[in-house]
Amino acid sequence: MSAITVHDKQFVPFIAEDTILHKIKELGAELNKDYEGKKPLFIAILNGSFMFASDLFKEVTIDAEICFIKLASYKGTHSTGHVITAIGLDIDITGRHVVILEDIVDTGKTLHSFLPQLQNQQPASLKIAVLLHKPEAQQFPLPIDYVCITIANKFVLGFGLDYDGLGRNIREIYQISE
Ligand code: 5GP
Repeated sequence: MSAITVHDKQFVPFIAEDTILHKIKELGAELNKDYEGKKPLFIAILNGSFMFASDLFKEVTIDAEICFIKLASYKGTHSTGHVITAIGLDIDITGRHVVILEDIVDTGKTLHSFLPQLQNQQPASLKIAVLLHKPEAQQFPLPIDYVCITIANKFVLGFGLDYDGLGRNIREIYQISE
């Protein structure tokens, strides 16, 4: 793997596909254990989490449901903080064991603002699973129950994550070169 240019920025290889898939497999095994007999509902946050959700759901062998919602648009290399609900939740989550699937927690603002909306509907439990977590960037309190990979506070792309629309189809994760 070598450096790539997306729009005006250079990115360098950061996390190999094998490593990502291995971490997702481990998370799937953990969820199979923790949610056995609970028929969890996974709520994946679009757009960024589609690849993570897809690979994770293939590792889930217990009875489980998945749905996709859209909350935020992210422009450029900094979190906009604007939360937009474009695709609604069409499943009643009352009394359900819910696991939110998010691509990355950066400042934590997106999920911090969205969580109360789900809590209001009184799920039996509500947990968060993320592919990537940037603890140094987090500004809003958030209980993150499952983390695949902890990373430094640098912009990344690939494996579902974009830079201004591009890069989501890259199999590995790249980090901005600065
Ligand atoms: P937060 O609300 O935690 O600051 O940001 C959440 C959203 O911002 C993520 O779902 C993701 O869409 C976007 N985001 C945050 N950090 C990055 C990053 O390093 N790369 C990309 N491509 N998106 C990011």
